[in-house]
Amino acid sequence: MDTVIPIPVPPTIAVQGTSARFPVRRIYCIGRNYADHAREMGADPDREPPFFFGKPQDAVVPGGGDIAYPPATANLHHEVELVVALAQGGRDIPAAEALGLIFGYAVGIDLTRRDLQAQAKEKGQAWDMAKGFDQSAPVSALTPASVLGHPKQGAIWLAVNGVERQRGDLAQMIWRVPEVIAHISTYVTLAPGDLIFCGTPAGVGPLRRGDRVRCGIDGLEDLEIRLV
Ligand code: MN
Repeated sequence: MDTVIPIPVPPTIAVQGTSARFPVRRIYCIGRNYADHAREMGADPDREPPFFFGKPQDAVVPGGGDIAYPPATANLHHEVELVVALAQGGRDIPAAEALGLIFGYAVGIDLTRRDLQAQAKEKGQAWDMAKGFDQSAPVSALTPASVLGHPKQGAIWLAVNGVERQRGDLAQMIWRVPEVIAHISTYVTLAPGDLIFCGTPAGVGPLRRGDRVRCGIDGLEDLEIRLV
């Protein structure tokens, strides 16, 4: 095809046990999916239906590594999350059928400009620049569901410079993975290549240049980034 500029190439994520990679289409994220994190953000976890936001496809940083401290923030926060990668899509997907769409799982960090997010909340403005900036979605290699199964529990943790900051359990998710997929698919048509960030436990906090961040989920490959 003759194009006036080069066609952007989608990012791809490594898959454990194979040299074939997983191409990313869209990135969806759920907000406040752990009660203790909802409370630390000043929300009431019991009375809120799920809500979603997105990040651009090319915000993915496959395998982590060096990440440039982003501009326009003095309060960059880490949020360790389970990431679901879809092999199939659809709309109005019943929760009972949702696990069948999943290719695999990874560990991700929903990097957040917390100061811009607080400002957006206060002014009733969009979250895009708080959540969807360059390199805002580092993701580990994927572990296929065919190998791992579908984790319903297991530790999720994050440490900065060797000091643990976040620890929770996947069993604490308010909306479980099948429910998350079902809900998103009532708003948009999901498709192969979509990633879903499933929310973070309590303990989010600021990162500084030079920080080394390591995080993991039981059964998945750890993810490590360094702010440069
Ligand atoms: Mn998040």
